Amino acid sequence: MKTKQYILDFQKRIISAKNLLIIQDIDGVCIPLVKDPMTRELELKYIYAAKELADEFFVLTCGEHEGPRGVNRIIERSLKSIIEPKKKDLYLRGLAACGVEYQDNDGKVTYEGVSKKEIDFLSKVPGLMRPKFELIVRNIFPNLNQEEINFHASKSICETRFSPTINFNSLFEMVKTDLEKRQLIQKNFEKMMNEIILTAELKGLKNSFFLHISPNIGNENDKEIIKLSTKDDIGSTDIQLLIKGSVKDSGVLFLLNKYIEKKTGEAPFGSKFNFRNSPKSTKEKIDLCRKFINVDDMPMIIGVGDTVTSHKKKKDDHYSRGGSDRSFLEFIQILGKEFGSENKIIYVDSSSGEVYRPSTNKTGFKGISDNEDILKFDMVFHNAPAEYINWFIDLANKRSNFKNVY
Ligand SMILES: [Mg+2]
Repeated sequence: MKTKQYILDFQKRIISAKNLLIIQDIDGVCIPLVKDPMTRELELKYIYAAKELADEFFVLTCGEHEGPRGVNRIIERSLKSIIEPKKKDLYLRGLAACGVEYQDNDGKVTYEGVSKKEIDFLSKVPGLMRPKFELIVRNIFPNLNQEEINFHASKSICETRFSPTINFNSLFEMVKTDLEKRQLIQKNFEKMMNEIILTAELKGLKNSFFLHISPNIGNENDKEIIKLSTKDDIGSTDIQLLIKGSVKDSGVLFLLNKYIEKKTGEAPFGSKFNFRNSPKSTKEKIDLCRKFINVDDMPMIIGVGDTVTSHKKKKDDHYSRGGSDRSFLEFIQILGKEFGSENKIIYVDSSSGEVYRPSTNKTGFKGISDNEDILKFDMVFHNAPAEYINWFIDLANKRSNFKNVY
């Protein structure tokens, strides 16, 4: 636990930064984790605080802005209006679909770097998943009737535009603590999603897609490794088909490019920069920043996320580290060291939601981080999202006061 003084100093340093950029994940950070994404809610005061931070705030999420399941619908529900958010520019600015879908406060989305052929294939994926889903479910749950299967299909297959997803929560509900069945669900649907990648390849989309598994336990041969259920950890709960190159750390470069363009009038990586022409490795990404960004233009970046994992492997005693927020938080941390911009990493403990996550209050950082982890948290909100939201609203307020004075 950090001391009261540390917490005060921490906020003070952020509020008084010369240039500031907050890059924040959404689910589990400012929205409690729920099993059914259609029931998500966002606090009104948070929406206004994000708006108050203006150009110094971006979201970076693997969910989507638009569509029936999009965050824009949550904003509209919170404001009880579909006109107000547009009129007052209250949509959350930033990148969704893991770095593909960008919008400003006005809610107009763009998706540079994605081809028409890819968009067309993506739109067909839920239809490809449906019969496979039925087969798998009939096998694991032979007693379900058609109506029940339809119900679970509608809960499990998410027809999102850039990231069609299979989610296991509604099926997990049925098997409760049956470990064997949980793993059967995970393995079967991983296989199903791999078949869809194969179908894409046969249609000439060889380098277009990859599977993003949440949470995962790291990467092997460029593939994310599924986290199979154990007695006290539900493991992976969903698999998304994503466009290759759409990873959150490339998203940081994209957002940084936008931020500096707005501030200086010139985009350091060029105005056409997107996830598709982002370099892949951390080293190349750092080199790109070193080459094109003046130290004076580099803001203090605050990275906020809730999905970070670390597990000790039994076979060689090494840690396997993953989690969908890890890459972008690590990148922000390294970038801060390179530029001396005092970047800060905030970890939000989302274990109080409906989805299982290790709890820092109960078991410390077990399953999240370890002593040898290069990713270090400068601040941890143990009782999130509520605690983080309060802090964020206060921060936005103070930052705006600070900027009015200086
Ligand atoms: Mg999250």
